[in-house]
Amino acid sequence: MGEFELIRQFFAAASCAQVGEGVALGIGDDCALLELPAGEQLAISTDTLVAGVHFPDSADPFLLGQRALGVSVSDLAAMGATPVGFTLALTLPGAEASWLEAFARGLDQMAQRCAIRLIGGDTTRGPLSLTLTVFGRVPSGMALTRKGAQAGDLLCVGGELGDAAGALPLVLGQRRADSAQAAALLARYWSPLPQLELGLALRGKATAALDISDGLLADCGHIAAASGVALLIEQARVPLSEALRTQVGDTEALQCALSGGDDYRLAFTLPPEHLADMQLAGLPVQVIGRVAAGQGVTLLDAQGQPVEPPRRGYQHFGSASD
Ligand code: ADP
Ligand code: MG
Repeated sequence: MGEFELIRQFFAAASCAQVGEGVALGIGDDCALLELPAGEQLAISTDTLVAGVHFPDSADPFLLGQRALGVSVSDLAAMGATPVGFTLALTLPGAEASWLEAFARGLDQMAQRCAIRLIGGDTTRGPLSLTLTVFGRVPSGMALTRKGAQAGDLLCVGGELGDAAGALPLVLGQRRADSAQAAALLARYWSPLPQLELGLALRGKATAALDISDGLLADCGHIAAASGVALLIEQARVPLSEALRTQVGDTEALQCALSGGDDYRLAFTLPPEHLADMQLAGLPVQVIGRVAAGQGVTLLDAQGQPVEPPRRGYQHFGSASD
């Protein structure tokens, strides 16, 4: 199969590759053309995933397609941007139709869920790797950045953390993956759903935000540094799923949540007056601590005393943002 036939059959023909809102011209010309309404800014982010580094060579292509797009769109959610389009630069060792068909199906499914269109890309031969670039739009000046957290704000996250990290030994075949809990964790690893609705709702309310890709502690460190504040995390308030606690036990579950990464949930700082409204609207907002004057990230025990974060229980395969 030639390059053009491959692009046509697996990508240009996909539902997510048809032109629509915000996309004036898609796959097939030298460039795609995006429409940007007056008063809006373009949010752009790119991620590369390399086989053997970011995912096992043997990864299921359907799940890989879902995950690759999910983790990329999560960056748009973190900025409060609305997805418009994405490009896919694909390097493949060979044109294997069954692999391509499943990969494109996984990609298409995640694209439909995120309402984002495939607008172009590049296809080359070589060791398997994927580079996705996502484009979103956000009203000028309204993007959520890592800078802006203020002493007195609440520190919040968009739901339970650590599931994807808890799934890693299963992904790598180091632990048995035959329980209902294991299936739940694997789903959170392979199909991270970007928190787009939450990101939009946080516009004009959250003072800083990001998506957690490298672990709660490390990513909160980015907000603390960019904003010039201290973040205090109450260990007991870090939300952990039943599935994770059952699968790995409480101690390791907390390690996964604090240091594991691959969550792709939002972490953000919120002035307290916005909390009730957000929760009433049914948004997944969980308070885990607060912002104070100072610097760095401090973990607090039930008595409010600083504690050393627990050490990581096992080696990380590598998160998509590495
Ligand atoms: P050019 O030679 O102008 O760079 P290409 O021959 O690489 O164009 O690609 C032809 C068209 O197909 C372009 O519109 C490009 O964006 C698109 N394309 C190439 N590879 C992919 C891919 N993997 N997924 C989606 N679109 C692709
Ligand atoms: Mg090209």
